[in-house]
Amino acid sequence: MVEIANQIYKNGLTPGKSGNISIKIPCNINYKIVISPSGVSLKNINLENVIVIDNEGNKLEGHGKPSSEMNMHLEIYKKRREVSGIVHTHSPYATGFSFSGEKIPHLEGFGKIIKPYLNEINYATPGSKELAKIASNGLEKEDILILKNHGVLAIGTNIDEAVLLAEFIENSAKTSFIAHSLTHEPIPAHLKHSR
Ligand SMILES: [Zn+2]
Repeated sequence: MVEIANQIYKNGLTPGKSGNISIKIPCNINYKIVISPSGVSLKNINLENVIVIDNEGNKLEGHGKPSSEMNMHLEIYKKRREVSGIVHTHSPYATGFSFSGEKIPHLEGFGKIIKPYLNEINYATPGSKELAKIASNGLEKEDILILKNHGVLAIGTNIDEAVLLAEFIENSAKTSFIAHSLTHEPIPAHLKHSR
């Protein structure tokens, strides 16, 4: 968890104090969640400041407060029982797309998403219960979600899968942006969101 948090910060996926991650740990018939703390850059996550919560969000271990997006993580684990890792990023290119009307195209030869459709949800205030609800609904059938005017949410049966998906989307967005800048060709209309 610590290593992954530090790495995604280094890779530029979670600038400043943005972003949060969690890992589900099976525990008897239930599970616990290790989650990044609120107000701490993922650069500075260490064994002392990670937070452990139960599946209702009650704090079990750790000193600070859990991530302000804790409810979003809790709701996703409730809806998708097979998920064991969640990564939320504000990676610049994918987030840039989220602030535009453009959709990140699925690029050929650029790896593969099992479910290639990129779902996007409307804007809701970060940290709100509303965001937790619409984000978990948006991930019912998808493993990656664009949060309008906000960032990216990726899930996996383990945390590595979620990280790879978040990296994949950021790279797809970056490559699309560069291709678009070089060719000056508009992104094909069928890839745009309806407005
Ligand atoms: Zn965020």
